[in-house]
Amino acid sequence: MAKIFCIANQKGGVGKTTTAVNLAAGLAQVGQRVLLVDLDPQGNATMGSGVDKRALPNSVYEVLLEAVSIREAKTRSEVGGYDVVGANRELAGAEVELVDQERRERRLKAALDAADADYDFVLIDCPPSLSMLTLNGLVSAHGVIVPMQCEYFALEGLSDLVNTIKQVHANLNAELKIIGLLRVMYDPRITLQSQVSEQLKQHFGDKVFHSVIPRNVRLAEAPSYGQPGVVFDPASKGAQSYVDFAREMVARIETL
Ligand code: ADP
Ligand code: MG
Repeated sequence: MAKIFCIANQKGGVGKTTTAVNLAAGLAQVGQRVLLVDLDPQGNATMGSGVDKRALPNSVYEVLLEAVSIREAKTRSEVGGYDVVGANRELAGAEVELVDQERRERRLKAALDAADADYDFVLIDCPPSLSMLTLNGLVSAHGVIVPMQCEYFALEGLSDLVNTIKQVHANLNAELKIIGLLRVMYDPRITLQSQVSEQLKQHFGDKVFHSVIPRNVRLAEAPSYGQPGVVFDPASKGAQSYVDFAREMVARIETL
């Protein structure tokens, strides 16, 4: 049975897509069968996996409209070693088109249920909003991975997401929980960051992943080569920390 995780945070630019792509590639490297679902109309996770978002025969948009299955929509990230259900600007229209449809928040879940036997991990890269698209992700998932920067307003920004997750848990998906908070773009030389990191551990205890992703320019360069950072420069600190995180996730799902 596949374990399904949303990578979510309603803030933009916090490292969701970088985490989704590199965790997918890291899990593939440690022998897991992985599907990455791009739920952001920007299509960055698609492009960052080496899949051209402008040339997708089918995308997550058609999946949400129930026109195709996951098996029909998926393409292979040859470079990453995992499958991708891609996204592009078309997906921005799905929000409006789903408004008056039945079970509109359960479309992705239904599609993923049918592909359950094909994967060990399904990762869903969410857009930076608490929209119908994100809701489809949260309804499908066993848990949420929250990447965050250790900045002054980080804890404040978290409360909206935590409330949304509680509501989805209460009304739509009783399995949903926060799997963990992942500290990303971390620089321990910055005093404020280590202070916020300590606060996070006090507040959230073992919900804070042990792995920490440093700020690393190789992770930022990799997408322009259509590669996950883990593949682009495996020796870099950023790549190694994402592979460590992949191992931590494999260990953690055994305790779920
Ligand atoms: P989101 O999906 O939350 O909008 P991204 O993953 O696209 O965030 O990251 C935002 C920007 O920060 C991108 O340019 C990305 O390359 C860069 N970035 C993400 N993680 C790191 C990191 N650990 N070190 C350096 N740059 C990073
Ligand atoms: Mg993104």
